[in-house]
Amino acid sequence: MTNPTYEQALREAADLVRAVSDQRRGTIELSAQTAELLQSIDAPPSAAVASPASSDSAPSLEALAEEVAACTKCALCKGRTQTVFSDGSPNADLVFVGEAPGENEDKQGVPFVGKAGALLTDIIEKGMKLRREDVYICNVVKCRPENNRDPLPEEKAACEPYLVRQLELIQPKVICALGGHASKTLLKTEESTGRLRGQWHSYHGIPLRVTYHPAYLLRSPNEKGKVWKDVQEVMKVLSGEVTPQPSGQDSSA
Ligand code: URA
Ligand code: SF4
Repeated sequence: MTNPTYEQALREAADLVRAVSDQRRGTIELSAQTAELLQSIDAPPSAAVASPASSDSAPSLEALAEEVAACTKCALCKGRTQTVFSDGSPNADLVFVGEAPGENEDKQGVPFVGKAGALLTDIIEKGMKLRREDVYICNVVKCRPENNRDPLPEEKAACEPYLVRQLELIQPKVICALGGHASKTLLKTEESTGRLRGQWHSYHGIPLRVTYHPAYLLRSPNEKGKVWKDVQEVMKVLSGEVTPQPSGQDSSA
């Protein structure tokens, strides 16, 4: 529904701004009529004030998080304390995708806050010299599988559309898949993490790098060097130093 008074004022304001940018006026002067008009405006209809072609994905992500919080699409909803949607910035250039919430994540409602999370934070802050709050972190499934078992294929399939929408809204420059559940889900492959890492892939045109899951690194600390190498490659793309050439085999490329 349009509001003619509001639209009229908006048109006048736009004319004024145009006049200023054309350097025809140094300051903005309002006619008594326009001032009166502006004062007479009630709260504008929200559609009218939305900035055109806004790239702010935060509200849509918040709406999606609410949808997820109410989700009962798979059996994992029964065992959760709460859903675990994401951590970090909706404007992030880099998204990390993990597997599923563990016990701490389920309690706090935030991904990667346990031991594996502390290692991921180190990778981000010490390895990449980024701030954890500037990247975006999420999982393939948003509810905790009991006893931290692997999520089942049907649970991943039920939850995947939420991950797809998160990535669509964020449009990161790079995705980093942590371990097999994330890489297999995103790349639609059965290849192991060991075979997928060390090269660039493409997720619908977004460069994607696969590395080991931090929980695996806790069990196999001798693999840390490989993860360090992987994140250095991610940094080169984030900084613009390198434009990745994805291997040509990804089904989602
Ligand atoms: N492992 C994951 O894959 N995700 C988390 O959020 C925590 C641990
Ligand atoms: Fe819904 Fe995903 Fe939770 Fe399953 S794991 S109930 S699909 S939010």
